[in-house]
Amino acid sequence: MISYPDYLRLLPKAELHCHLIAMMRPDMLLAFADRNDVALPSRDIDALIDSDNLQDFLALFVTANDVLRTQDDFAEVAYEGVKDAVRAGNLRYREYYVNSQNSSAYLSYPDFMDGIIAGLRRAEDEFGVGFRIVNAINRSLSPEAAVEMVREMIRHPRAEVVGIGQDHLTADGGEDPALWVDAYRLAAEHGLKRTAHVAETMPAEPDSVRVALDHLGVDRIDHGYRAVDDPDVLAYLVASGTHVACTPISTQVLSGWAPSPDHRIATLIREGVPVSFSTDDAVFFRTDLGREYVDGLIGMGFGPEVAKQISLAGIDGAWCDEATKARLRADFRAQHLVLDALLDTEVSSGEH
Ligand SMILES: [Zn+2]
Repeated sequence: MISYPDYLRLLPKAELHCHLIAMMRPDMLLAFADRNDVALPSRDIDALIDSDNLQDFLALFVTANDVLRTQDDFAEVAYEGVKDAVRAGNLRYREYYVNSQNSSAYLSYPDFMDGIIAGLRRAEDEFGVGFRIVNAINRSLSPEAAVEMVREMIRHPRAEVVGIGQDHLTADGGEDPALWVDAYRLAAEHGLKRTAHVAETMPAEPDSVRVALDHLGVDRIDHGYRAVDDPDVLAYLVASGTHVACTPISTQVLSGWAPSPDHRIATLIREGVPVSFSTDDAVFFRTDLGREYVDGLIGMGFGPEVAKQISLAGIDGAWCDEATKARLRADFRAQHLVLDALLDTEVSSGEH
């Protein structure tokens, strides 16, 4: 017999909202800084990593990006990040947000992507974890820079690089999705998938979800929590059937929203929005994929049926081909049967 927390850790997982830079363990961050002769604001890990607001967090994001200079650096972060997530939460498939713009001073676009692909491919060969890559628009740069990023993707197509997303905040600290209409239109014209970070924290507008759906034509949404605060937006999101890649622990860190039955993510789940769980920025938020399920689902009061639904929703929302999805679903369902048989039913009686 296994406990419900163990069951949640052992569930097979497909993670859709994971920034590659933030998979870097602190020991690696220090080692890369030494190797590439990059000065850090502090050598103390706690001082480096602790942040309780989006601005501090983004400063760390920039620092972490700055210590990676070569293809091999990126390949190592990619490979180690898969290994860590398999150990922490039975990762079976993942989509990575990477940022080619942030490394353009050191690496050409093809070299940057091929380094990451090499690391992820090695991890796939060793651990069977499939992947796709999503290039993120750095929202602190201009809309023109975003269009140029998409052009670069079109000039150097890679089968593994399937779409665009976002990171950072806009220059004025917001998330205004309407800024990126041209980049998203160009991506759509060339068959690239689209997702956007919207409606994440209290200063963000619930209506950003509608703007992302209507004006960016997104296939998926990252965060989207504030939709819950506007009944019309929530109804629109539900009717669209759009997948939302949620990150429970980051909401606790950045917004003080501890997982509970009235958490906005719990509301999205109860309203029937297809939701998956991700770490967002695992190391920086001191979380891991297992913890997202354990703390998130137990805190929100959901039992094994919802847990399995979220585990499978990660496959539904993924941007890999249908044959890969079918294989993943079969693997997940088999693992669900095994885990259900092992679960101590006394502890799972709190099902909502
Ligand atoms: Zn994110």
